[in-house]
Amino acid sequence: MSPACHTREYRSEVLVLGSGAAGLSAALACAPRATTVLSVGISAEDGSSHWAQGGIAAALGEDDNPLLHATDTLQAGSYRNDQQAVQRLSEGAAEAIARLLAGGAEFDRQGNTLALGREAAHSRARIVHAHGDATGAELMRTLYRQAVAARHLQLLGSHRAFELAQDAAGRVVGAWVEGPEGVELWQAAAVILATGGYAGLYHYTTNPATSDGGGMAIARLAGAALKDLEFVQFHPTALDLHRSGASGRLPLVTEALRGAGAQLLDANGCRFMLNLHPAAELAPRDLVARAVWRAGHDTGRVFLDARTTVGRAFPQRFPTVFAACRAAGIDPRSEPIPVTPAAHYCMGGVQVDEHGASSVEGLYAVGEVAASGVHGANRLASNSLLEGLVFGYELGRYLTGIALPIPGQALPPRHRPQHLPDHIRAELGRLLWAEASLIRDGQSLERAAAGIESMLGTVEDTASGRGLLLLASAAVAAMQARRESLGAHFRTDVVAMA
Ligand SMILES: Cc1cc2nc3c(=O)[nH]c(=O)nc-3n(C[C@H](O)[C@H](O)[C@H](O)COP(=O)(O)OP(=O)(O)OC[C@H]3O[C@@H](n4cnc5c(N)ncnc54)[C@H](O)[C@@H]3O)c2cc1C
Repeated sequence: MSPACHTREYRSEVLVLGSGAAGLSAALACAPRATTVLSVGISAEDGSSHWAQGGIAAALGEDDNPLLHATDTLQAGSYRNDQQAVQRLSEGAAEAIARLLAGGAEFDRQGNTLALGREAAHSRARIVHAHGDATGAELMRTLYRQAVAARHLQLLGSHRAFELAQDAAGRVVGAWVEGPEGVELWQAAAVILATGGYAGLYHYTTNPATSDGGGMAIARLAGAALKDLEFVQFHPTALDLHRSGASGRLPLVTEALRGAGAQLLDANGCRFMLNLHPAAELAPRDLVARAVWRAGHDTGRVFLDARTTVGRAFPQRFPTVFAACRAAGIDPRSEPIPVTPAAHYCMGGVQVDEHGASSVEGLYAVGEVAASGVHGANRLASNSLLEGLVFGYELGRYLTGIALPIPGQALPPRHRPQHLPDHIRAELGRLLWAEASLIRDGQSLERAAAGIESMLGTVEDTASGRGLLLLASAAVAAMQARRESLGAHFRTDVVAMA
């Protein structure tokens, strides 16, 4: 490519890629530094943040404290977490909620205090939520409103970064972006990646299309270290639309329904969780997900039955799930909901230190794209929005407190903004779902690696979309390298670790 010919150039002090909870939290906290936020979509709905149903974990109850929250986080993460990151997260939660309330967030209340929900693996009721199961939408409404009003910020949709801009010394000095009018070079003294995870690469996923790992892919190409890619969390209950031929994101059927008593049934009507765990449907998320997967394999289908436990109250208590069911022609008040596990969240990503700095100078990462170590081998429910809010805020404040260098001259990009062809993207999704899924073994992972290798052979070296294949290949290699079952990484050919 000869990018210099038709390239527009822009400058800001801080460039944030991604406008989800993490990106906007970081950008808002960068004040007064001139900050630009670029994202693929043009609304608050384009990342995962908008779709979050359950809520935001914060130790606000009288019987609760940050230490208990930290303990639950460590246990869920199989104690593979970075303890300092966990402490920062749990201790920063109350302030993060206070900032949102000050910004006008309308969370559900019980009398004068915030209503705190309970989710699996939390030892206390500590989930702050909004409008029942629409927490992400309320959170993003609040952050967007603040971002639009902030004088130090500009927010631009329809801008997809396809490569990080680097100077001759390898320092990240901006990003090469596919904008509405062609290729743009956005230069900045600091670049924050907040592009979300890669669970959207899987065929069965709860994530929107923007969560395809594109940010991780460009960080990897810039030489940034990635870690923990083998740890992908699968949600046990997404609405199973694939039978009707649909593809893409599957609506989530929130865990709170199981908390409200809904039961998992196989195709024969058998409540299979009863024999598997004392907590039945409320067993740890990865165990339930594997049980749903097996029951689906063995009997053909799995259903979540909320007819008697939620019944007529469904539209009021779970409006988001109700709307998704109705759109699919299902009435959850009178019929069981077909469900499937689906790829949901990535614990791994761009390795960062306590300041959010990656291994490449000038590049920072926050939110799901980052591997801060806070989630260990498995994320505790409702800790990820919190991560974006707390670590995003900390990163923004950090960047306002240090001297930022003047960005050097960017070298030309090495890639053209060329997406993966649709059929290869679809094939990759099916391959990952079949061979590198919630139940894996050495042979399935070999098949996954070989399949990706042959796809790589069909895509030009200079096409930016190739980065997604390379990221998938790195994730499969990490799954192959970890010869144990730990947290969300479950292999049937090795002994599980305690
Ligand atoms: C259905 C669902 C329900 C969930 N429920 C909960 C919950 O209840 N509680 C909880 O804590 N977590 C929940 N999660 C997880 C949580 O929502 C995510 O982990 C979190 O929102 C990630 O935030 P983020 O800001 O890092 O990324 P995202 O919100 O995914 O935002 C990513 C942004 O990056 C942009 N982007 C992507 N690629 C590029 C690129 N190449 N160039 C420029 N911009 C780019 C996108 O356009 C988007 O703006 C849920 C996730 C899903 C999918």
